[in-house]
Amino acid sequence: MSTLPIAAHQNADAPNVSFEFFPPKNAKMAGKLWQSIVRLEPMAPNFVSVTYGAGGTTHDRTHDTVRRMAQETSLTPAGHLTCVSASKQDVLKVAENYWQAGVKHIVALRGDSPAGMGAKFQQHHGGFRDSVDLIEGIRNWRPDLGRVFEISVACYPEQHPDSQGWDKDIAFLKAKQDAGADRAITQFFFEADTYLRFLERARTGGITMPIIPGIMLQPNFTGLKNFARTVGASLPDWLHTLYEGTEDDPETRDLITANVAAELCHKLADEGVKDFHFYTLNKAGLALSTCHLLGLKPKPAEAA
Ligand code: FAD
Repeated sequence: MSTLPIAAHQNADAPNVSFEFFPPKNAKMAGKLWQSIVRLEPMAPNFVSVTYGAGGTTHDRTHDTVRRMAQETSLTPAGHLTCVSASKQDVLKVAENYWQAGVKHIVALRGDSPAGMGAKFQQHHGGFRDSVDLIEGIRNWRPDLGRVFEISVACYPEQHPDSQGWDKDIAFLKAKQDAGADRAITQFFFEADTYLRFLERARTGGITMPIIPGIMLQPNFTGLKNFARTVGASLPDWLHTLYEGTEDDPETRDLITANVAAELCHKLADEGVKDFHFYTLNKAGLALSTCHLLGLKPKPAEAA
């Protein structure tokens, strides 16, 4: 375990958190997602974000979810937006709809080819080239809206599968910052050193915006292995060992998942990291357990 006593994370030292959700596929999943949102709201996250399906396939569901968050909760929602399969005009129309729904934070992404991760990304005819082009497009779009959106972007401590090397990666992330990004959120990782080395490279490369570690809360280890392979994230041997023999034991997997996430956050907190972005997979329980392990307590209803 971390050398940092858990008590040190209580009250003023407790971390800032944000939560990521994906849009529900049907009414039943929507009900579950909404229960999770209601349970996580008292943790007073900095923001909550909703992903945008490959190829814009979840366009309406993403929009409905962030709009409802903006209108029915005290949360600050962020809508993810990609460049995939849409013209610049269509993408900016989505941004405008977000704005009209009271959503003032966009997670600006290139996205993946509709043919799936691993297939080469193709710029849509009349669409944005990549995330830098998208950020510039939002910032230069309308003088009344473009400058005032908060914009987050993605970054990759273990490199993106399309990486052309560290120097180009850092230069490209710097280009996102120069285009107007306010913060970067990392792909998930499991070793604190992976993040810390990346942070050092980024700072050396002139990147000054906050770089928030993305913490995965996936208790299905088989699913995690498949996903990690496609996005180029590594799973250390000790993680394989921890989950070994838990294939038919979801409760134990949940306990392991929350503890692994909390221990990673504690190690990062020891190094001065104060903000954590949790990939919740729409389940409140694991995110709540992890927050409690970090000393973060729910705010009373009236203060939430
Ligand atoms: P970019 O940063 O534009 O490019 C990806 C990488 O390619 C760069 O890091 C760099 O290594 C390389 N690269 C690209 N262009 C250049 C260049 N000109 N010069 C040098 N190198 C270059 N996907 C979704 O479909 N919907 C989502 O909601 C979503 N949310 C995400 C949230 C987070 C926090 C993260 C980390 C990822 C998310 N993704 C999502 C996945 C993301 O869309 C994919 O990883 C996609 O392949 C890259 O998108 P990007 O914005 O990071 O791309």
